[in-house]
Amino acid sequence: MKDTSKHQGLRNQLATVLKAKGIIDENVLNAIRKIPRHFFIDSSFESHAYQDKAFPIAAEQTISMPYTVAFQSQTLEVKAGDKVLEIGTGSGYQTAVLLELKAEVYSIERQRELFKRTSLFLPKIGYKPKRFIFGDGYIGLKEQEPFDKIIVTAGAPFVPKPLLSQLKIGGRLLIPVGDKTQIMTLFIRKSATEFEKEELGDFAFVPMLEERN
Ligand code: SAH
Repeated sequence: MKDTSKHQGLRNQLATVLKAKGIIDENVLNAIRKIPRHFFIDSSFESHAYQDKAFPIAAEQTISMPYTVAFQSQTLEVKAGDKVLEIGTGSGYQTAVLLELKAEVYSIERQRELFKRTSLFLPKIGYKPKRFIFGDGYIGLKEQEPFDKIIVTAGAPFVPKPLLSQLKIGGRLLIPVGDKTQIMTLFIRKSATEFEKEELGDFAFVPMLEERN
């Protein structure tokens, strides 16, 4: 795997495209400028890596489109040292962005193949989450609660209760909710029992599935 000045140039262009689409958080844009996205997809499709589109990875899953990753990262308002739970490790690209934002990341993936592959690959290129978990995002990660931020990167048919309850007061859960397309939904925990809810537009994700395989 090689990262060249040509790749760097393409990444700078991608950041400019994302800026035009409304991404204003410079830390997020810097992460996009820095992370070699072409390492995350099959090398024969390298030319697609810096276009703003989703792309197939292993196990019938996709790497989310850069805009979606940037939008979710910006909306989460990640601060250095935040404890973040990510549901849907996938290729690990979103994980890398969270790590560039200096979050402490716990990432759950339900597909064994992707879990194995990404938990080997990411540390190899210098990205080390606190933990990779092979498990079910619907139940979250009780033993590590509460989290400052929770991000779901698969389309959820409903909002799993455990994710709301594993949030700190003041914490944010960002989750795309719906079947065919999803509404990006932000929950901010106001107290033990109150959540503020905001809907942030339509997105398209692969479905969040319940059983592990
Ligand atoms: N952030 C990833 C997105 C991958 S697509 C990337 O940009 O590469 C969504 C991922 O969520 C897939 O890898 C899928 O296997 C995973 N997933 C689906 N349902 C899940 C569940 N219940 N728990 C954890 N991960 C799940």
